[in-house]
Amino acid sequence: MPQLDTDKISRWDLHGREHVVRVRRTGVQRTLSCDTCGWRRGARFLPWARAQEHLADAHQATVNPAAA
Ligand SMILES: [Zn+2]
Repeated sequence: MPQLDTDKISRWDLHGREHVVRVRRTGVQRTLSCDTCGWRRGARFLPWARAQEHLADAHQATVNPAAA
């Protein structure tokens, strides 16, 4: 996965608002936290996939600004 060194995932929603989920390492565990709504969750595997899932489900944010 090309995003392994990334410590945050940002996506835009349909209104062009940016939503950011930060990824923090805690040993083997990663802790995700969403800047927009305060959602938090630990993810041992695929934290980026979990972050994207949250952004899409909670904020309808699916546009990757890096890919635009
Ligand atoms: Zn959120």
